Amino acid sequence: MAVERTLTILKPDCVRKNLIGEVTRRIQEAGFKVVAMKMTRLTKDTAGGFYAVHKGKPFYDELTDFMSSGPCVPMILEKENAISDFRKLIGATNPADADEGTVRKDFADSVGENIVHGSDSVENGKIEAAYFFAESEVVANLA
Ligand code: UDP
Ligand code: MG
Repeated sequence: MAVERTLTILKPDCVRKNLIGEVTRRIQEAGFKVVAMKMTRLTKDTAGGFYAVHKGKPFYDELTDFMSSGPCVPMILEKENAISDFRKLIGATNPADADEGTVRKDFADSVGENIVHGSDSVENGKIEAAYFFAESEVVANLA
């Protein structure tokens, strides 16, 4: 299996609930290496750009309001099979449908406020990582 990178965001609800540590612990426990990390705050516009693929959908306005409602913590994670394994760790988009023991099942309040983002493909992961991080901010070879 190939080593991949995925872009996650600990969303504003994760930060508000003081779950940065717990969710990051689960991510690391599952074998993901954090190769870039920061705390930032999206604006309505930059949240809209990140989720441009969803523009026009009924939840887009609410989503961009939520994603710009407070600080968030984007990270680039590295692991074999990272894209698929990370989606398994976080669970289904709607916490009501998420498997037991997943991050969204345990911590998310709703389909909108669902604690974490995870890239859906290697290609999108690259685009999303570049949305938040310059090459110089990616510490790729931590011992
Ligand atoms: N979302 C929402 N309502 C929906 C579908 C999605 O509010 O019916 C939000 C939710 O925060 C989700 C994000 O939009 O995480 C992006 O949707 P996507 O379908 O890409 O889900 P994800 O890849 O995050 O599981
Ligand atoms: Mg998605």
